[in-house]
Amino acid sequence: MPAAPNVDVRTKAQDILQKTFGFEQFRGHQQAIIAAVTEGKNALVLMPTGGGKSMCYQIPSLIRSGMGLVVSPLIALMQDQVAALQQLGIRAAFLNSSLSLTERREVTESLNRGEIDIVYIAPERLMQDGTLQWLSQLSISAIAIDEAHCVSQWGHDFRKDYLLLGQLPRFFPGVPRIALTATATEVSRREILENLALDGAEVFIESFDRPNIRYTVAPKSDSKAQLRLFLAGMHGMSGIVYCLSRKKVEATARWLVDSGFKALPYHAGLDDQSRTEHQKRFLAEDGIVIVATIAFGMGIDKPDVRFVAHLDLPGSMESYYQETGRAGRDGEPAEAWMVYGLQDVVQRNRMIESGDSSDEFKQHERSKLDALLGWCESTGCRRKTLLSYFGEKRDSRCGNCDTCLKPVKTWDATVDCQRFLSCVYRTGQRFGAAHLIDVLRGKSSDKVVQYGHDKISTWQIGEHLNQNEWRSVVRQLIVGGFLFPDPGAFGALKLTNQARKVFRNEITLNFRLDSFEKTPTPKKRSIQSVDSDDEPLWVALKDKRSSLAAEYGIPPYMVFHDRTLREMLHSRPSRESELLAISGIGEAKLKKFGAEFLATIRRYAESTQLTPDSESDVES
Ligand code: ADP
Ligand code: ZN
Repeated sequence: MPAAPNVDVRTKAQDILQKTFGFEQFRGHQQAIIAAVTEGKNALVLMPTGGGKSMCYQIPSLIRSGMGLVVSPLIALMQDQVAALQQLGIRAAFLNSSLSLTERREVTESLNRGEIDIVYIAPERLMQDGTLQWLSQLSISAIAIDEAHCVSQWGHDFRKDYLLLGQLPRFFPGVPRIALTATATEVSRREILENLALDGAEVFIESFDRPNIRYTVAPKSDSKAQLRLFLAGMHGMSGIVYCLSRKKVEATARWLVDSGFKALPYHAGLDDQSRTEHQKRFLAEDGIVIVATIAFGMGIDKPDVRFVAHLDLPGSMESYYQETGRAGRDGEPAEAWMVYGLQDVVQRNRMIESGDSSDEFKQHERSKLDALLGWCESTGCRRKTLLSYFGEKRDSRCGNCDTCLKPVKTWDATVDCQRFLSCVYRTGQRFGAAHLIDVLRGKSSDKVVQYGHDKISTWQIGEHLNQNEWRSVVRQLIVGGFLFPDPGAFGALKLTNQARKVFRNEITLNFRLDSFEKTPTPKKRSIQSVDSDDEPLWVALKDKRSSLAAEYGIPPYMVFHDRTLREMLHSRPSRESELLAISGIGEAKLKKFGAEFLATIRRYAESTQLTPDSESDVES
């Protein structure tokens, strides 16, 4: 088929966007990407999670003649995507090991009859000889390779089968291929282009900023109490709470349930059945909080996760970005919140040093940890620092992170640092922070008496700071490279060469002034709950969504996203044309769900008109 002229492609794409997907405008590079692929060019797309990658191959597949082929590594994601497309009236199917023989035969036959618009397929299945021979006989409109970083041998998601995808042009000559990923390093970019043989590909790089996510890092004091404050007013919202250990996951989940949340644990130590069950409930029900280790998240495509909380420090900026990126894929406001303290720094250091990997690898891990710690301690805009780590420059402050919303105060900690460091020195560099703080604060613990540390010169010279304040000093001394927790000596703090500069008064140390208030100054949440007047209709709309979801056997967000419901709440449509104007409502969904929602809104309007006031109006 000759490529259609540009203008025509754009009109068609816009038409599908509105009528099928129910959206008004393309985002970022979407339109240009769709135009390139539809015109038969190869493309590489780097876009953050939630950026809208799927549309970039779905629309070209629909415009070009033939069927779109989507290579995807995760079975759970395939099922989800196919179900979502079917709700939009698109004929989608998948081929993977989860199908029974009969189901597979049915899909095969519909493909042969040309009844499918888009088919998802696992790489290992696609690259089997029989499959390639068969599919190359069919009319293929475009090939999308999702999660394309799986082809990168240095990345952590490497999949052997992805390397074979480089042979696709031999079997599908002239069919445009589009590779997509949310992993952005320069190295993996080059590897994708080479290993997938994406000749002449246009490369589209979207900003990795997630403006709807608000970043907050608070100094850890009592993490349970802090989590409780953070979650106040978040009942009924879906979220993820990450912890480092299975034990902590279990304890936190139990505690949240006792506090009235629908919380479920998830970690590698749970049996398969519970894990699957918990993940399923998280996707299918509104308002579940998953408390999890990093075992949770791969393949989670839930758009309405409203918060991601970290009770422990993640391993690197990359992990942090990926884990928090699971929040707010639908573009609505979401929170990324973390508490972080001295113990995290010590623990992460220990994890690196106690591993049996090579020195080179440890050095690499250490520098990754340093970058993350630097970010935690940063007094500037968090988003700016985060983006610059990924190579993106940004000039202005974001206004949607903790340091922008409440600028950090700093203080001259030089003299107190000298006090602490000399206490380390006088006690022989053999103790951890807790004991050293006891000595400085003049607390005669058994250990202090046993070692005679109540007789040394640094005894009681630090009573003016409380325990939390001293811990904040120690944390910043470690992060700044003046102290080192030695894992070979049970985390005893040792002085580094840098520390000498502090003793010699060669540098001034301006530290973050951490605030340890029990009740933080009330600040406006990024996530808005609805006005109390709107509450009854909001509940009615959500109930309607849940019951339709149950009826169709799909998660509520596949009926409508929160944003769509919120627009209904505000515009109170009374006829179909008004519903169509709402974002996320296309023709298929209008037909399927429109009448039900209009009826819900109508019933609500009638019930509110029956107030005594309006009745007397009618009589007079
Ligand atoms: P990604 O695969 O990049 O993580 P998705 O393709 O799943 O992102 O899209 C994320 C969300 O954004 C989806 O809910 C999708 O419907 C929505 N979306 C994508 N493009 C648009 C658009 N142009 N306008 C409105 N919503 C969009
Ligand atoms: Zn900011």
